[in-house]
Amino acid sequence: MFALRTLCRGPRPLSSPSSASRTLRAPRATPVRFNSSSSKPTQAQLEAAAKRNRTANMWLSGAVVAGSFALGFVVCQTLYNSKKEPPTFLLPSNIGIELQEKMQPSYGSVADYHKCIDEIRELYKSKGKEDSVSTDADDLRSHGISDWSYHGAELPTVVVWVDSTEEVQDLVNISRKYRVPITPFSGGTSLEGHFSSRPPDPDMNRANAQPYGGISLDLSHMDKVISVSEKDGEAVCQAGVRWEDLNEQLAAKGIPLFFPLDPGPGATLGGMAGTGCSGTNAVRYGTAKGEWFLNLTVVLPTGEVIKTRSKARKSSAGWDATKIFLGAEGTLGIVTECTVKLAPLLPTKVAVMNFPGVEEAVAAATEIVNHGYPVQCVEYLDSRTMRAINEGGIAGRKYPEKDSLFFKFQGTDGIMNETAKGVVSLAKQHGGKDFEFSATDADGEKLWAGRKAALWSVLAMRPNGRVWTTDVCVPISKLPKLVEETAEDFENRGLEACHFGHVGDGNVHTLALFSDDEELERVRVAVHEMVERAIRLGGTCSGEHGVGLGKIEYLNTELGQGTVNLMETVKRTIDPLDLFNPGKVYPNIHPKHSAGDGHGPKEHSHGVDASVGKKNAEKEA
Ligand SMILES: Cc1cc2nc3c(=O)[nH]c(=O)nc-3n(C[C@H](O)[C@H](O)[C@H](O)COP(=O)(O)OP(=O)(O)OC[C@H]3O[C@@H](n4cnc5c(N)ncnc54)[C@H](O)[C@@H]3O)c2cc1C
Repeated sequence: MFALRTLCRGPRPLSSPSSASRTLRAPRATPVRFNSSSSKPTQAQLEAAAKRNRTANMWLSGAVVAGSFALGFVVCQTLYNSKKEPPTFLLPSNIGIELQEKMQPSYGSVADYHKCIDEIRELYKSKGKEDSVSTDADDLRSHGISDWSYHGAELPTVVVWVDSTEEVQDLVNISRKYRVPITPFSGGTSLEGHFSSRPPDPDMNRANAQPYGGISLDLSHMDKVISVSEKDGEAVCQAGVRWEDLNEQLAAKGIPLFFPLDPGPGATLGGMAGTGCSGTNAVRYGTAKGEWFLNLTVVLPTGEVIKTRSKARKSSAGWDATKIFLGAEGTLGIVTECTVKLAPLLPTKVAVMNFPGVEEAVAAATEIVNHGYPVQCVEYLDSRTMRAINEGGIAGRKYPEKDSLFFKFQGTDGIMNETAKGVVSLAKQHGGKDFEFSATDADGEKLWAGRKAALWSVLAMRPNGRVWTTDVCVPISKLPKLVEETAEDFENRGLEACHFGHVGDGNVHTLALFSDDEELERVRVAVHEMVERAIRLGGTCSGEHGVGLGKIEYLNTELGQGTVNLMETVKRTIDPLDLFNPGKVYPNIHPKHSAGDGHGPKEHSHGVDASVGKKNAEKEA
């Protein structure tokens, strides 16, 4: 039986317990008899007897071990043949992955999906909250398709808005009962198809394929900041709180603290924990995978609620259970609350300067950061992006159309003025020019407006076009090579693309414009090449946006099969039915759109009119 043989291979090949006992027949242990004429055995007699017994014992132990292996093999074989589920214990990666490939998860029938939705509706009716359950086409679309990703996406079957941890628990229990998958959704700003379902395999007859969209569990109504402790520098929040709202509420209360993770506008704490996000402040404050989430309240696939740890600033009480949920994209648990650490709000000043090229800009940025200057952000924008900003006019001013660095410094006026002098002198050694430094907060905002306008200005370059946005991250010294080769490759393919990013971390974003299917296909190939290039340079397929549907194909290469197998085993242990956000993060776990059970195409499109699925497919194209 395929790879299990390898696992169960004992000291010699075994085909069955009976053959094992035949092959490994041990010589009988000989009773120790001595010459009767002599009252004491000689030394030679004693040694010979001991040797005989040692040999016999060795054979016996060998036979027991071999028998156990054989028995274990038969038990494993029977178990796996009957359960058709891959193991939840760690096996060597070649075996674990092979079993996973053969035994993929599958979900309830179409009838089960209907029963599941009926039960949810009943539950919400009993609470007088029927409006919190929707199969409306627009709701399904907004919870299944992101306007930012082009990875092929399917809709959920039903959207349910939740208000409490208990409601999440109820839904998880219903989902398990009918084997209907459940995917958390909070801000919906993720970029790699994180909350979309995978389309059926190309060889599957779509009309007859079983759905697996399932429940989209929307936590955006769980948006309360429960408490803030200025003394402890922390806030307890529901998962649907947006990072900007948290900071606005702190400012409105006059609390001089802020939450420094700054991903896309509208992102929420639950989703940010889900993607392991970061943003412009990462060079100073690190990412979501640091200790900004002190603890999480999580609903597990069993329906049990856990709090991952106390609120203490640091803890060495075992390993950090919070961390396994950070970047897990909702595949291991659904975060309903969290305690986040807050940072002191320090005065900042903004500076901008330009360079002859990416190499000089990155060299300057690296030296400035390594020199220990109090840099909160250092952002690189290539000359194309700077041109787009000028042409777009959103920033309300013009900048030199050259590769540029945007900085935010922190501290007292004295410290920042000193910093500015040091930065200029270092940057000049790399050809830095046109240093601008904000005198006031208002000046700072105006200067930073260019960085803020980058994405929207690139979008405005093609009024009827669309944009593919992606991120990769490499060791900082490799960033110039990555950007130069990527820019050249896009140009050679006749594509219009801008490159900018959080250079202090070696994180770059590429925005590629396209207008039709043919151009989209060229972009897809160029993005693929860029990701492979980043991995070749010792980097990662995503510095901050996460895996979703878009980056899953790179994990085996980037992480290696042993790490992937470890992650998949953890997933199977926590969520053996693969109910939580299937199709993400684990490259060898492919949920099935199994053959249908006699329902027509309308059923296939997950309970909505089939035209929604068609529109979706057209959009993907
Ligand atoms: C204009 C723009 C700029 C961006 N810039 C950045 C940037 O600079 N840095 C950066 O890191 N990202 C950036 N992003 C990406 C995005 O903002 C982040 O990925 C963000 O963390 C997603 O949060 P969300 O609340 O929108 O999550 P969603 O999109 O709702 O969900 C993201 C993932 O987390 C899971 N999830 C959602 N809620 C929960 C929960 N409560 N419990 C468990 N899992 C959950 C979902 O199932 C999904 O897999 C940008 C996006 C946009 C549109």
